[in-house]
Amino acid sequence: MTVRHLLDLTLAELKQWLTERGLPAFRAAQIQKWIFEKRAGSFEEMTDLPKDLRTRLAEEFVIFLSKVVAHKTAEDGTEKLLLEWQDGNRIECVLIREGKRRTICISTQVGCAMGCVFCASGLDGVARNLTTGEILEQMLLLNRVQSDEERLSNIVVMGMGEPLANLDRLLPALEKAGDPAGLGIGGRHITISTVGLPPAMDRLTAMQTNYHLAVSLHAPNDELRNQIVPVNKSMSIAAILEAADRFFADNGRRLTFEYVLLGELNDRPEHAEELVELLRGRTALLNVIPYNTVAGLPYKTPTARAQQRFLDILRDGGVNVQVRTRKGDEIDAACGQLRRSFPQNAAAGGGVEVQIGAPATNVSGSQIDGN
Ligand code: SAH
Repeated sequence: MTVRHLLDLTLAELKQWLTERGLPAFRAAQIQKWIFEKRAGSFEEMTDLPKDLRTRLAEEFVIFLSKVVAHKTAEDGTEKLLLEWQDGNRIECVLIREGKRRTICISTQVGCAMGCVFCASGLDGVARNLTTGEILEQMLLLNRVQSDEERLSNIVVMGMGEPLANLDRLLPALEKAGDPAGLGIGGRHITISTVGLPPAMDRLTAMQTNYHLAVSLHAPNDELRNQIVPVNKSMSIAAILEAADRFFADNGRRLTFEYVLLGELNDRPEHAEELVELLRGRTALLNVIPYNTVAGLPYKTPTARAQQRFLDILRDGGVNVQVRTRKGDEIDAACGQLRRSFPQNAAAGGGVEVQIGAPATNVSGSQIDGN
């Protein structure tokens, strides 16, 4: 019998599994409580379940499918996990500590098909979508990394992959995250970051969710965006902004636009001026993220002077802008970087725990939305 991923089952499906075996359905809620609230990692720990039920569950299900290939901790408290699934595919997820806030950054796909030229995640394309259970597993493993006093407060879907290309599996996972009997993290504390796929954005709009939406813009005109974000060739900035406007009109949620600032590529004064024109009249926040260099790629972090000039023009033009630097730089916490720094067969075995001693160089904030 192949083992099943328990996290792939809804509460109703778990109840059905129990009743089919002549067992009381209320056990499902107990099991869920152990996993989400008491952070259990095995059925054995579920001491208020009858012993034979625990044995049957363990025969048929696993709670966690992945092997933790690397677990890195940065000086600033950021922790990053590199997970390997049974098929050998690897993904990353991160816990970021800021004051009382505990934000997790999760992945939705193995790799990414969008092909943004500067990003480490998409260098080898996309291998597959993650399942709902695999998305939930990241949340729960990061939940367990915390001390007993800590509670997850925010989720950003900004890890590997394009979330709007895997909405059918992401949404049930986020629903569970929002469930008071799950992690209790409401939609207002969840941000989905997208490269900007208008039909999927419209789908999200129609669902009337209260998630935050962040759109990765990275260029003020289609010519430049086609170069930096190749998937743009099959759409346009205008179509993305129209879909963003519909989201704002229907959901009343202010949109965030992300702009990764790439030295000498999209950081010139004329780009900032064009951006001012583009965003004029829109209720939006622009997150400017100085590029985090990726080994082997030619792109550069902009100079401090270029950054300042860019920001001054935006602010003078009335754009609501903030600079986001990434947390956990020294542990390769940026999108897709840790996976690349661990060659597939080098880290075989039980997983490595790496404690990084060097002070972080770039931790004055984070790329995370301030909700
Ligand atoms: N596919 C989605 C979500 C994943 S990427 C999207 O495009 O939004 C999340 C954010 O991290 C995006 O804005 C992306 O452009 C940015 N990012 C990726 N690699 C980066 C790097 N090396 N430095 C800075 N930001 C990066």
